[in-house]
Amino acid sequence: MSDFAQSVKQQVDIVKVIEGYIRLRKAGAQNYSGLCPFHKEKSPSFSVHAVRQFYHCFGCGVSGDVFSFVGKIENVSFPEAVRIVAQKAGIPLPKREFSSPEEAAEARMRGKLLDLHEAAAGWFEEQLRGPEGALAREYLAGRGMTPEGIKVFRIGYAPESFGALRDRLSGMADEATLRASGLFSSKEQGDGTQGPIYDRFRKRVTFPICNESGRVIAFTARTLESGEKAGPKYINSPETPLYHKGEVLFNLDKAKAAIRKANYALLVEGQMDCISLFLRGIQHVIATSGTAFTEQQVAILKRHTQNVVVNFDPDAAGANAAEKSIALLTEEGFNLKLVTLEGGLDPDRFIRERGVEAYTQAVLGARRQSDYLIERARQTFPGATAEQKLKQMNYLLPHIRRIPQKLVREQFAMDAAQKLGIDSAVLREELRQAALKRREHIEVRTTALTEVERVLLRALAISDPEHGEARRTAVDALLRQSQWFEGLTCIYALNALARRESQDPMDVVEDPAQKALLAEALLGENEPPTAENVIDAIVSLQQRRLEAELRDVRVQIAEAERRGDFAELAVLTQRKLDLDRALRQLRGGGSLPN
Ligand SMILES: [Zn+2]
Repeated sequence: MSDFAQSVKQQVDIVKVIEGYIRLRKAGAQNYSGLCPFHKEKSPSFSVHAVRQFYHCFGCGVSGDVFSFVGKIENVSFPEAVRIVAQKAGIPLPKREFSSPEEAAEARMRGKLLDLHEAAAGWFEEQLRGPEGALAREYLAGRGMTPEGIKVFRIGYAPESFGALRDRLSGMADEATLRASGLFSSKEQGDGTQGPIYDRFRKRVTFPICNESGRVIAFTARTLESGEKAGPKYINSPETPLYHKGEVLFNLDKAKAAIRKANYALLVEGQMDCISLFLRGIQHVIATSGTAFTEQQVAILKRHTQNVVVNFDPDAAGANAAEKSIALLTEEGFNLKLVTLEGGLDPDRFIRERGVEAYTQAVLGARRQSDYLIERARQTFPGATAEQKLKQMNYLLPHIRRIPQKLVREQFAMDAAQKLGIDSAVLREELRQAALKRREHIEVRTTALTEVERVLLRALAISDPEHGEARRTAVDALLRQSQWFEGLTCIYALNALARRESQDPMDVVEDPAQKALLAEALLGENEPPTAENVIDAIVSLQQRRLEAELRDVRVQIAEAERRGDFAELAVLTQRKLDLDRALRQLRGGGSLPN
């Protein structure tokens, strides 16, 4: 690790950094725990050690330091992770070193693209305030947008020009980078090459899209024109090295603290709905931007909460994407509730016309997903004939099967039978089957360590000279009586720790599986073990070995007796007596035999 990375690591708190991505709860004097972002789980097995500054998941076995966490979760290389962590902590970056020229080029490109987006956002904001922005200001005021809100969301205006932004940014980057930014368009020419670039967003109100750290990575822009000339109502940045549409949740950067606090997210479709609610104090709101959720988006959301209240537009186009999103959230085990607003209003109009209080009441009155779906089944296939009931059922069954928790499925099936008045034994049986069907996930926990191994790992991980005696005792035994330690699962970690000089224990164990074992031992730690604890552990190790040997000798004695081999029998009997004596000594005294 470079000096810079080392110094960053010393300055940041891994708990704070990880809390930026997932919910953590205090789980002990030095530990925090939460749901693992790297595997699917329902009860938390992911731990962070606040003092030793590492994380470990007892479910899937991942472990590491702050850089490894950020690298995994952001899917970036080590140098990028160092950079991200440094930036979060406000530590200025030195001239960077990268492991390969490609990596360096990629990081440079991303950095440049972030700079371009920042500059574009600032310039759009400026244009909105200027004379050309008058129409846009009028539009925003008409939608109840305050100057404060414009500032918070950095809303801007892209003027009616093909080259104004291009001219503004052309000094900042070469043309290839400008093209890669997605801020510009170009037309394919007769010979198949791309023509000159021009501004993508024109005569539109611009809304920046930010990543989880709040940096602008893309834009969505609404037209101010109406009629044929207007083109689509919204246009968005294309996919770029910075922006992957399916991996961004609109407003998550601003909403995440409130989502954690409320322990649920309010999910709306439109960005304007989202902004409007947020500015009126409902801050745990994020938007899907009108398309169905992707698996990545669901995974991102899961890091913050497992509870979602959905307030989608009631219109049909919305319903399709909405249903897909709901299906995906259900499959991932989210608790879902659904809001239906009176009068078929969208959230923005509702809150502006009826006020915050009425909206809050509507959210509080959100229906459970099962009730909502049963209602929808009834509305879509009205009537009580056997045929209609069958259709209602067929509508509901896939929804029921999708739910991961058996109890929730059973409750849903029971409610459906009751509310739809299904008395046919056949249909009831089918509901029952749907509730039974989904296979259960079994979570694997890797608690491979014995108490003895735990004590030894913890003793060898001691750095504090005050507890040096325990460490020395363990090192000594490991070097002098290595045969007692043979066959321990964590033997590699023990040896690496014993050879350690002043490094951090988590840094000297390189094998990931061994690192995981060490992490597991350290997470259970309150006080470091004493020299007596270590002696006890070693004694019990030796005892176990002697007992195993004794069992072996007994088997051999039986064999020798059967064969009538008395010479062998005499040797074995003497061996058995020695072992018995050694064991008696061990059990009797606490002193360490040689
Ligand atoms: Zn995990």
